[in-house]
Amino acid sequence: MYRAMRTPSELSDLLRAHGRKVTPQRQRIFQALQHDEGHPSAETIYETVRVDMETISLKTVYQTLHDLAALGEITALELGTGTVRFDPNVECPHHHLVCRVCGEIRDVFVEVGSLELPPGEARGYDVGSAEVVFRGVCPACRRAEPSTTRAAPAPLPSGNR
Ligand SMILES: [Zn+2]
Ligand SMILES: [Zn+2]
Repeated sequence: MYRAMRTPSELSDLLRAHGRKVTPQRQRIFQALQHDEGHPSAETIYETVRVDMETISLKTVYQTLHDLAALGEITALELGTGTVRFDPNVECPHHHLVCRVCGEIRDVFVEVGSLELPPGEARGYDVGSAEVVFRGVCPACRRAEPSTTRAAPAPLPSGNR
């Protein structure tokens, strides 16, 4: 699916236009965001960028992501994975597929029918949008753990000790 994020150089121009500093560290963060379709956390981006830019700090990563979110270029998502995740796809409305084992988040582009609340259920809210979260187990986690019923422990072998 087409990802509608601006290129790193477009983001750099945009930040400059808003009076924000554009450093090599920040440009590297833009690249990391563009190449990660799993909706990375600040920590994930930090680990990615640190590989070839040892001097970068987690604080710089947080600040850069915060600036981009404030400009509406990325969205901060909280989908119950334990960390705030960043979504560079702000152009086309979409829903999310979340792995309940590893927390990977993927974009899904489907029509899910009417998500309008009947007047009685809107409780006086002016409702602007609705998103659906599909939860499941991703292919990598399914391979690692063929049984998707994690709650049930495998029975102990009997008469074998
Ligand atoms: Zn997974
Ligand atoms: Zn997304």
